[in-house]
Amino acid sequence: MTYDTSNIFAKILRGEIPCHKIYEDEHTLAFMDVMPQVDGHCLVVPKAPSRGLLDANLETLSHVLLTTQKVAAAAIKAMKADGFQIRQFNEAAGGQTVFHLHIHILPMKEGATLKAHSGQMADHALLAEQAKKIRDLL
Ligand code: 5GP
Repeated sequence: MTYDTSNIFAKILRGEIPCHKIYEDEHTLAFMDVMPQVDGHCLVVPKAPSRGLLDANLETLSHVLLTTQKVAAAAIKAMKADGFQIRQFNEAAGGQTVFHLHIHILPMKEGATLKAHSGQMADHALLAEQAKKIRDLL
């Protein structure tokens, strides 16, 4: 399986389509998931073109994990969550729908359940508000 530069996250990284940005550095970008499974659901992607976990090099993985840790800490505070999940899907059979490596951060409140993966589009005003809340706590 090869990396296809026409995937939606590559377009976001190139600035061709917008996103509700939370954090960006030289190696990574974090933004809100447009079909959130829970309030504050966000994604961390490397800027390096990796399709999934298996073709990413050690440097890419370490940058992605460091950003995930940083953004998750802010997201759980911003959403007043009690914990969080990180999820990462590989290939269609593994549930992946966008073929650019990404980590899902899902802030979890006690007893909360997740909505469907890639389910319903959220209100953009709400996503913008949540992105700001998370950004403010970074
Ligand atoms: P995957 O199934 O590949 O692990 O997850 C892809 C995620 O990207 C899904 O949770 C889906 O809601 C999200 N997503 C799909 N298209 C877009 C988009 O255009 N913008 C953003 N921000 N998220 C997207």
